[in-house]
Amino acid sequence: MDDAKKIRVRFAPSPTGYVHIGSLRTALYDYLFAKKNSGDFILKIEDTDRKRYVDGSVESLIKSLSWLGINWNEGVFLNEVISEKNNSIKSKTYPTVLEIGGSGPYVQSEKLEIYKKYVDQLVRDGHAYYCFCEPERLEKMRNDLIAEKKAPMYDRYCLHNVSEKDINKNLKNNCRYTIRMKIPQGEIIEAQDLVRGKVKFNTDLIDDQILLKSDGFPTYHLANMIDDHEMGITHVIRGEEWLPSLPKHLLLYRYFGWQAPKFAHLPLLLNPDKTKLSKRQGDVAVEDYIKKGYLKEAIINFVALLGWNPGAGETQEIFSLSELVQKFELEKVHKAGAVFDLKKLNWINAEYIKKLSIDDLYAKALQFFEQKEFFKTASAEKKLPEFLKKVLAVELDRLSKLSDVGENNQFFFADNLVYEKKLLRWKEMNDADLKKTLEKSKAILKNISIENWTKEGLEETLMEATEDKRGELLWPLRVALTGAQKSPSPFEVAWVLGKTESLKRIERAIDLFD
Ligand code: GLU
Repeated sequence: MDDAKKIRVRFAPSPTGYVHIGSLRTALYDYLFAKKNSGDFILKIEDTDRKRYVDGSVESLIKSLSWLGINWNEGVFLNEVISEKNNSIKSKTYPTVLEIGGSGPYVQSEKLEIYKKYVDQLVRDGHAYYCFCEPERLEKMRNDLIAEKKAPMYDRYCLHNVSEKDINKNLKNNCRYTIRMKIPQGEIIEAQDLVRGKVKFNTDLIDDQILLKSDGFPTYHLANMIDDHEMGITHVIRGEEWLPSLPKHLLLYRYFGWQAPKFAHLPLLLNPDKTKLSKRQGDVAVEDYIKKGYLKEAIINFVALLGWNPGAGETQEIFSLSELVQKFELEKVHKAGAVFDLKKLNWINAEYIKKLSIDDLYAKALQFFEQKEFFKTASAEKKLPEFLKKVLAVELDRLSKLSDVGENNQFFFADNLVYEKKLLRWKEMNDADLKKTLEKSKAILKNISIENWTKEGLEETLMEATEDKRGELLWPLRVALTGAQKSPSPFEVAWVLGKTESLKRIERAIDLFD
């Protein structure tokens, strides 16, 4: 019966400013799982933590996910992305957002009355209670428990000491209150997690969770599970940090008499030193990777592999989004933490860059060139598409991210190369020999026609002229063209620079010996 139900999953980010890599992984797995099973994928917004709310983050979150090609079919959308659609309503909270689908609202701050209705029901049924404890009392209690090396759990003062009459009086006097969930004592709660298998929890170790905060907003625990129920969510895919909350959620489902969805808790993301992935050790915001010029295909591919692979013995590492849809299975998600390895991301990105045509690479790379100082100050010809495409053709196999374009080959853009004369020297060659070899290069290059001015043409002619003394001819030539200790080959550099500029640079090198 359950299996025949249409699969419905949701991504439930909190608008706190940026999309964390871990959140992207959750969204991606939601997407893959829904797609693979022809299910629905819903995007809803968990904005009940007003302290952490950052203006504009809902919009930028939607943009980032859309840019990455992760699409959902229900929930919140940007006005500009979907202009006309049946049953769409304008979000009350976010002016540029539309809510589309029959199980909304999809923004938690618009549902406060709904949550209140349900929490009142829990209170009436004896599953939740008013707590009027002052923050000072709670803090003291917590500190005392910690000092005694006990878990800092609420002592249930209000459950045992506040009568119905007190409650009514306090409410009439507008006393500040929260509503707490009553956790049963002495019970073992068991569940089957799709990633972790059987999990067990002892309710004696679970705090009486606050469900409704004193500001009238629900906590995650209440709001999230009510949404999931109302939205008909069949599978909850979320980070492992929520695993300890699972028994609370299962109890809430029990209290309401609702069937709980299936749960899959995704492994933690770790720094290479196996500590929890943190900002201190690198970027954790997806937007930072987008800004640095990681391709969407690479980001998706890399994030998919954070805690999943297609199974034992499989060595494939490059997957397109549609291949991922085909191969993804929640059962293959790993239990152990997944290490965020930037080197691997760079490798994957480089693989995708290599597959781009020069025109595509140019279209994507131009904005990164435009941010560079060496580009801003370059002459007009060096900003032309033909020139930049040649630079990119040389860099294609060496780039791990688009923001690196031109970075290691700034000499392409310089008008007057500045370098030390001694850099031109190959081994023990003296000045006279150096001048001679540069003059030889100049003569050879002068003789190459414009039609033959290709990487291959240049390589063939120059290699022939080296007469087995490659270094003597090619090192001074390469330095004359680049002014650099390390660079691509002189054939590639001369090809990019063109005949006139190459000859000019060689002449300038020759002048150094006068
Ligand atoms: N807002 C929660 C988060 O961002 C959602 C967790 C869940 O998917 O239930 O972690």
